Amino acid sequence: MTRPLPPGSTLGILGGGQLGRMLSQAASRLGFNVVILDPEENSPAGRVSQGQIVAAYDDAVALSVLGQTCAAVTFEFENVPASSVQALVEGGAAASPGARALAVAQDRVEEKTFLNGVGAATVDFAPVDDLDGLLKALDRLGTPALLKTRRDGYDGKGQIWIRSPDMAADAWSAIGQRPAILEARADFRRELSIIAARGRDGAIAVYPLGENIHASGVLKTTIAPAEIDAAAQTRAREIAEAILNGLDYVGVLGVELFDLGDGRLLVNEIAPRVHNTGHWTQDGCVCDQFEQHIRAIAGWPLGPTEAHCRVEMTNLLGDEVDQWTALAAEPDARLHLYGKAEARPGRKMAHVNRVKRL
Ligand code: AMP
Repeated sequence: MTRPLPPGSTLGILGGGQLGRMLSQAASRLGFNVVILDPEENSPAGRVSQGQIVAAYDDAVALSVLGQTCAAVTFEFENVPASSVQALVEGGAAASPGARALAVAQDRVEEKTFLNGVGAATVDFAPVDDLDGLLKALDRLGTPALLKTRRDGYDGKGQIWIRSPDMAADAWSAIGQRPAILEARADFRRELSIIAARGRDGAIAVYPLGENIHASGVLKTTIAPAEIDAAAQTRAREIAEAILNGLDYVGVLGVELFDLGDGRLLVNEIAPRVHNTGHWTQDGCVCDQFEQHIRAIAGWPLGPTEAHCRVEMTNLLGDEVDQWTALAAEPDARLHLYGKAEARPGRKMAHVNRVKRL
């Protein structure tokens, strides 16, 4: 694709959750039509889009129809098979970010190896394929150490702390004896994240850092812009740029960081998509992360990323969403509801952005 896609073009999104919904809403504001591909009928994104194909993410016919219908295709979550993105590209579709970004982010060993290769520091780690390998890795990295499955882990799932070598066998069973990674403990002062975008022309735009607070492994709150010195902001920007360029990336990327408190930032993981810790941009920036992603994949110029206010974003999980009347009555709160019917415990149902003057 050489020229920017004109309004009226149709975009495709693999995945119909809340991220797809907010991408679709941003695309609609720019005059695009959106088709969602998701295995579940009536998905949150499908309900605000022009159409939804109900099919598995690896359904060859569905992918081919999506590729032929859409001038550009993207995805909203990282468990879409990288082979599906590859199939779209081979069928002639413009799919971004590319299959490589997805493949790197899907495997924690590949991810950390890539990150170290582009100069982004991480914790020390070792791939683990069996119990014997786990014991050797514990010997090298020491305890406590965190055992995580290489693939399919998110929101703290598929991971277990090992506090002494005699816990190794139980930990190996607890994660299902699947290919894994052992990580040294990051002794961090706080968790930060940076949201950045790269356009088709290689231009890069980076938002201010956010500070993140998790509860039970799930993001609860992001405060942005984070209170941080200019040197750390510059370092985070350089990390984001190295990752985006290293992957020849097009679109928005989320980078989760550990702030060690002594000037060092380690990358925990990357998300090749719009990110929960970037939701604050909806009410803190002129061009939010969703519009930014649509601009990037459509070949438009990237938008401004400065914050015009400070935002505290809070996720509403499960029945916390029932507070919507009280939140709607708060003068500085902006409520973003995902239109999900069933408020299962822990399910992300909505978020609220509380806006404060800078
Ligand atoms: P993850 O699924 O990798 O994002 O991990 C979920 C949470 O576990 C992170 O947000 C951190 O709070 C914590 N965590 C993950 N990896 C490490 C580590 N190597 N050292 C210390 N804490 C970690």
